[in-house]
Parts: sequence; C-alpha cells; structure tokens
Amino acid sequence: MFADIIGQEKVKKHLIDSAKSGRVPHAQLFCGKEGTGKLGLAIAYAQYLSCKHPTDSDSCGVCPSCLKFRNLAHPDLHFVFPIVKKDNETCDDYLKQFRESVTNDHYLTNSTWLNEISNETKKGKIYDSESDKIIKKLSMKSYEGGYKFMIIWQPESMDVGTANKILKIIEEPPAKTLMILVSNEPDRIIGTILSRTQRVNVPPVERDKIESYVKEQYQESDDDAKYIARVAAGSIVAARNAAESNSANKQHFEDFKFLMRTTWGIRNFSTLDKKGDALIDLRKFAETMAKNSRNHQIEFLQYAQRMIRENFIYNFHNEDLNYLAPFEKDFSKKFSPFINEGNVIGISTCLGEAEKSIAQNGQSKIIFTDLALKMIMLLKTN
Ligand SMILES: [Zn+2]
Repeated sequence: MFADIIGQEKVKKHLIDSAKSGRVPHAQLFCGKEGTGKLGLAIAYAQYLSCKHPTDSDSCGVCPSCLKFRNLAHPDLHFVFPIVKKDNETCDDYLKQFRESVTNDHYLTNSTWLNEISNETKKGKIYDSESDKIIKKLSMKSYEGGYKFMIIWQPESMDVGTANKILKIIEEPPAKTLMILVSNEPDRIIGTILSRTQRVNVPPVERDKIESYVKEQYQESDDDAKYIARVAAGSIVAARNAAESNSANKQHFEDFKFLMRTTWGIRNFSTLDKKGDALIDLRKFAETMAKNSRNHQIEFLQYAQRMIRENFIYNFHNEDLNYLAPFEKDFSKKFSPFINEGNVIGISTCLGEAEKSIAQNGQSKIIFTDLALKMIMLLKTN
C-alpha cells in the first residue's frame, strides 16, 4: 500500500490522480536513486488500480484483491528482475523468494537481492529468455478481469537484444496491461524504450520524513536523527546504514578520542611521570584493541580516517562541508587545529596502512603500537 512507503506524497498523489482519471499510461518508467521507494510505489500503484474499494489516498487493504497483494501473490501481478542464472533458470524459479524479500522490505536493493540468491560476486542480469515469457504472460487473459501488471525491476540489466523484444510489447501492448519499469540508472536503458515510456521521477525522500523514520525505528535522539537524515541524502537505505553504524561509531569515537589525547599527551605533558603513564596507556590501548575482532579493528581504522578528514574540513568552518555527528562535534572544536595541511596526509596514510596490515592478518598489537608512536610525531598544530 502507499502507506508502506515513506514520504513521496507528490508521487503518490500523481499516481492516484492518474488512476482516478482513468488515464493510465500503459508503459511507465519509475526512476530515482536507490532507497527512494520506487519498487514499493510501483507495487502500491498496481494494488491501487486493482483495489475494489480504493479511497482518495490509498487502497482499502482488505478487499480480496488487496489481500492477494499482501504477499504479492495476485495472479495478474508479474515480476521480472535480475538473477544470476544457473542452467535454464528464469525469474519464475526465483519468484517465491523475490516475493518474500520484497514483502519483507520494500526498499530491497540490488546488492542485497543478489547476495540472497547467489554466493558468487557475479552481476545479476535480466536474460533473453525472459522476453518470451513476458510476451506470453501479457497476452493471456487477466485472471481477475482487471489490469495485468508487469513490473520490470532494474531494466538496465537487460542487454540490447532483450530490450528490443520488450520494446515490441511496449509498442503494441495487449489490452489492459500496465508495464512499470523501475530503474536506478535510466541512463543505461536504450533510447527507444526511454522515448516510449512515461517517466515518473521519484525524488529523494523528504528529510523530515527520514528524521521521523529513524527516530521511530532506531530510537535516535532529535540531534542524531537530524544528522542521520542529512547523511542519508534522501535514501531510506542510507539512513538505515547510518543509524546502524551510529551506535558502533560511538564506541569507535571513544577509542579515537583516547588514542588522540594520549598520543598528544606524550609530547605535551609537563612531567616525565605523566608522559610515562601515557605510554603505559598506549600499550594497554594496543592490547585491548588487538582483542577485538579483525573486522572491528578495520572499522575503527576506517572511522579514524573519516574523523581525520572531517576534522581537517572542520577548520574551514563551513557547515555545508562538514558531516560530523552531534556527539563528535564538541571534541572537534578543540581537536581540529591539530589536523592541518602539514600532517593530514601523513596521518591518513598511517591509518590507511594500519588498516591494510590488519586486513592482511598482520599482528594487531604491533600494528597499533606502531601507529600510536607515529601519531606522537605527527600530531601537532601548524
Ligand atoms: Zn482493496
């Protein structure tokens, strides 16, 4: 249903208006960035057009047709999507899984889908064998007397031959059929298809809608939700990733702060005693860090690289350029002057090399000790 899709009120209104006016273009191309809800909108649109008692804003959700849409098993709703083919497989062999995955998550991404169906790193494709099936399915009578829908997810993954066959159906559509192409990258679709489909642009999701979403789903504070919505740049998928890494980042931040303060102290503390304590602290830091999983260590080092970058940028005092989380900002006020033209490259390189060594199964304790020693030399104001 439209209610399952976050924000996008303008697109929803446009689709509902077209349904109510009875002027539904028979081939439409939904395009927009990943995470904007295109596939969900296409399905909600089909559900609305099939619904027996639609309201002004959504399907009824309870009529026989809507019930079949709940698990995407309406007999007049067809899907074509990329697969990694083995033997003579077609989309139909993956249909059950596709319906389940999309029912679970209207924001299913290409990479999540391919990970689900294949353990190879191959790219997914819509193969030539699908085009005959599409023609066959659409030329059959509709089961329920209404529209037949063909939703083609990621038409950019068809090669030219397949696309040309599909073009024929678009040019001479059987009665009461609606083809919806759902694309992240319309630039990769052949021009003849582009020119024969009605384009529906699905813009980035409104920032305030993403804010409420992460507050509700991840119990983020107002400030954190604002930050996440900004980083997400209109994508629900990016917002989820940012919300999920936000709590992990808080741990990395504490470690980062500790490492920076301690290495700074070794050079700057006034007494030998204090310097000695700081050295012991650094050794402990390396020992504790080495006990974490290798993945955690790598994530920490990536996080540290981001912090160095952001603190360098912080010096320019331009809010638009900066992507620091609220909990990171306070620290940066004092820390940022220590990251400057003189050392930003050196520090980033050290962190990057440490990351690489950890990934290649180097000895973590030595790598982190070594990193801390280099940092003592590098951390200074201009
Ligand atoms: Zn209904």
